[in-house]
Amino acid sequence: MRKKKNAESRMNACADIKIDNPKEMKGKWRETFDHEGELFLEIGCGKGTFVTELAKRNPDKFYIAVEVVPDVIMLAMEKAKKAELTNVRFVCFDAAEICEVFEEGELDGLYLNFSDPWPKKRHHKRRLTYIDFLEKYKKIIKNGGKIFFKTDNRPLFDFSLIQFNDASIPLSQVCTDLHTSMWEQGNIHTEYEDNFSAKGFTINRLVGTIIK
Ligand code: SAH
Repeated sequence: MRKKKNAESRMNACADIKIDNPKEMKGKWRETFDHEGELFLEIGCGKGTFVTELAKRNPDKFYIAVEVVPDVIMLAMEKAKKAELTNVRFVCFDAAEICEVFEEGELDGLYLNFSDPWPKKRHHKRRLTYIDFLEKYKKIIKNGGKIFFKTDNRPLFDFSLIQFNDASIPLSQVCTDLHTSMWEQGNIHTEYEDNFSAKGFTINRLVGTIIK
């Protein structure tokens, strides 16, 4: 992505929904929302279409969106500001550090949408559904909480099925063509989802349930 103009002032304009010190928030995330409601995380929110719509539809729930690229998270924050949402916050950091940012069982669920496939075999440990990541998610999500994963990338999906199995996270709603399935109703499309689907790719989806 090309460098964004006026990035600094645009970032500053979003200061009220941007968390700059996420590690200090560990175990205290609900306090930022002044409320005991359910708390969900999206990792790799991109330009924020998904989390913005999700937060709009569920004003009683809270959402934290993580994105590692500053110029991208800026666009997501601007979208949330424009929608005047008060139940979503944004954090710019690498998901590898997730256990330093969330307390055990702090989250009710996690969304992974169109995570980078890292197609080369030697990079498989970087995939956000690699077992080491799943073990981290297991810690920070409460018992009975869910991981929602969508991807157009079939090799990544097949890899993920094995990883969830190896991590003993039971699966439900597994499908390889979400848009023609019964679960399409209520499905919020992401930017990548619409792009890939327009190119003729089907969308794979699974839900994992954390059992402790
Ligand atoms: N969810 C969006 C974007 C998918 S692309 C959509 O479906 O349209 C994947 C996004 O994840 C990219 O924006 C990338 O910067 C981000 N990402 C990749 N690895 C990450 C990591 N380790 N931590 C946080 N974000 C990450």
